[in-house]
Amino acid sequence: MSNSPTIHPALPAAYIQQTRELLGDEADTFLASYNAPRAYGLRLNPLKINTSDILEQEELLALRSEFRLTPIPWCRTGYYYDEETRPGKHPYHAAGLYYIQEPSAMSAAEALEAQPGETILDLAAAPGGKTTQIAGAMQGEGLLIANEIHPARAKILSENVERCGIRNAVVTCAAPDQLSARFPAMFDRIMLDAPCSGEGMFRKDAVAIAEWSPEHVQMCADRQADILEHAAIMLKPGGRLVYSTCTFNRSENEDAIAAFIQKHPNFTVLHMERLWPHQCKGEGHFVAVLTKSSEAEDDIARLRPEAELRPRRRGKQSKGGSKPSNAASDMAIFDAFAKEHIPHLLLGPGEPIRFGDALYWLPHSKDGQFTAESLEGLKVVRPGLQLGELKTKRIEPAHSLALALQPNEITAAKVVSYRAESPEIAAYLRGETLQTDDGLSGWTIVAADGYPLGWAKASSGQLKNHLPKGLRRLT
Ligand code: SAM
Repeated sequence: MSNSPTIHPALPAAYIQQTRELLGDEADTFLASYNAPRAYGLRLNPLKINTSDILEQEELLALRSEFRLTPIPWCRTGYYYDEETRPGKHPYHAAGLYYIQEPSAMSAAEALEAQPGETILDLAAAPGGKTTQIAGAMQGEGLLIANEIHPARAKILSENVERCGIRNAVVTCAAPDQLSARFPAMFDRIMLDAPCSGEGMFRKDAVAIAEWSPEHVQMCADRQADILEHAAIMLKPGGRLVYSTCTFNRSENEDAIAAFIQKHPNFTVLHMERLWPHQCKGEGHFVAVLTKSSEAEDDIARLRPEAELRPRRRGKQSKGGSKPSNAASDMAIFDAFAKEHIPHLLLGPGEPIRFGDALYWLPHSKDGQFTAESLEGLKVVRPGLQLGELKTKRIEPAHSLALALQPNEITAAKVVSYRAESPEIAAYLRGETLQTDDGLSGWTIVAADGYPLGWAKASSGQLKNHLPKGLRRLT
């Protein structure tokens, strides 16, 4: 009797052949993993939870027991959860306490080793797993540009940036060549989680199986080579580039890196690793860590003039359009709001920027090279932290602002906190009005166990719900 595994019927024959060539004797064990159940992961958000002293903290212990968490070995903030506990439905998810992410996918952003204060690009960022992980490591300091080429996916990325309370991210929707023409040698670190043939996701994504073919693999490899060229231009000398895919074939992984290094001898590979579903509890992932020689100054001299001579386009930046000239007076309106409602709010280095009626706080890079001018002519989805929506001579606070507030910033704010499992929190998340004390009036933060969920406006014993309509739960 043969010991061969029952091969998942949807796997293409050419893929099985490729796997046998890649893995030899190990191929059967690997192919059998397609019949095994998948693992589920979440990553705690250090912008909301102090993850530094894991064993000591009550809030962490509570989360661990709520979702039956067990640590993921390759990610300090990553945990496997019990699927039945449904963390995606919990109010803590709406409060941004964690990001649900495939466990193996957490390995790439760990390898980037992002530091507070740096200027970092996540070049292919939607839906935001790596962006939110990088932002956690940056601790709100520095500048993170999260870019996604497809508009609908960029919107989802932007929502995840908001939910996770990230203040120092700018979300753009651009092709890699548009960014490299504008930002040569700008970034300390670049994450390129490349669009790929997705072989490592076959167990969780039937569409990836249906789309797979040897021709599709080649198309992905060509596209990756092109995107890598632009990443190379944008990395500072001495900078770190992490390239990752969720696929197994060599063309999109080791061979792609070898071809890149041959073309760019000023880059060195520091490390390459693969996570295999038959060897660990997670799907497939490939990660390569590269560094650019600090003697690559010639590249900058060659590339800078092009970017610097490019005429600056004035006018529309996004669908809302920006009116930078109004931003200072708009900021005065916001400052008056903040003085009254969140007097301990502390915004980092940046400048106000107006898009349509929305007022944002645009983060600056530490070296001062990135300002509102840097975004001119670029499609921007989120130019930093949204502070509010301008009305005639007043401002309504933004949902993003509520989610980005730190515990020390809300000590002097009006906050109504309910137990996460309470009927009030369920009602708030459905968009309903809540009953409250007659004495409470004005802008109030509604929180679950102290974690902000959004704004409400109190008046005559009622809390009028200001949770954005698109985020309200139907059930
Ligand atoms: N990093 C994301 C995360 O952790 O959530 C996942 C990124 S996904 C693997 C790759 C992304 O690249 C997709 O969102 C896709 O839309 C985008 N993409 C597709 N074609 C692209 C191109 N030519 N240049 C840049 N990005 C592209």
